[in-house]
Amino acid sequence: MTSIIIESCLEINDRDRTEVRASFQGIIQDAPSGTSTSIVNGLSQQLIYQLQLNLPNVFLSFDDLNVDLDVAAFPYVQAPAKQGLQQAIRDRGMKMLVNSCYRTIAQQMLLYNDRFNNSNPVAPPGTSNHQTGLAIDIEDPRGWEPFLVQYGWSPLPGDPPHFDYVGGGTVDIRSQSIRAFQQLWNRNHPNAKIDEDGAFGPQTEDALNRSPAPGFAKAPWDDKPRLLKLSQPRYEGTDVIRLQEALKKAGLAVDVDGIFGPGTDKAVKELQQKKSLTVDGIVGPKTLSLMA
Ligand SMILES: [Zn+2]
Repeated sequence: MTSIIIESCLEINDRDRTEVRASFQGIIQDAPSGTSTSIVNGLSQQLIYQLQLNLPNVFLSFDDLNVDLDVAAFPYVQAPAKQGLQQAIRDRGMKMLVNSCYRTIAQQMLLYNDRFNNSNPVAPPGTSNHQTGLAIDIEDPRGWEPFLVQYGWSPLPGDPPHFDYVGGGTVDIRSQSIRAFQQLWNRNHPNAKIDEDGAFGPQTEDALNRSPAPGFAKAPWDDKPRLLKLSQPRYEGTDVIRLQEALKKAGLAVDVDGIFGPGTDKAVKELQQKKSLTVDGIVGPKTLSLMA
């Protein structure tokens, strides 16, 4: 494994704070310099879902905990790290504000492409401590520190908002993050396949740079639908488009924009009410089957 490069989380998080994702639909290498990594949220969600299919019960969402998330902060950590987070939040008894957590290799690629414009170092995709599923950047880090350290989370000297989970029982998922991308690429390029070796070489770097920011046409949830709901970051992708089209067909007012925002949430709940389902805004198999 390459030596660890300490990135400036504060600087990266500041840059991510502006939400501009709808304005860029191109491939990663054409992304304007300095943009928020939220412009690759569509592709990032495909990478996260593929990783979860590869590593069931290892890499978990923590959006069910008492947290608030930034626009490009994907709330995923490994199972023991989530448990530690849950206990710290319970003990302190207040909401945790999370600015960054799992950073996909698509997000890392954007930052890496900009590395010569930054004074601070950027790690190559697959080698950042934010690709481990064991890292968070939070507001009020000193207030949280005594609670987090009790449950396996450790502050990173020189990088104020950053904590790593060091409590054990975890695996190194960084090469898995790269392999998930290689699988997704191959699925969408059956005639131009790359090695699924989990290594970030020139071939993978080139493929990642030529990947579409909103995600590939064939998504990992085509085989196994994901649960859709109102969340931060917003769910987006081909499955959201299909859902919105179905809602519209069912006579509900909704924009077909591929992003699961408050309007889609409202339409889903109206449909659930109409069909006497639990009105939870979660699109699972039951809600889906009523729209088929
Ligand atoms: Zn960090």
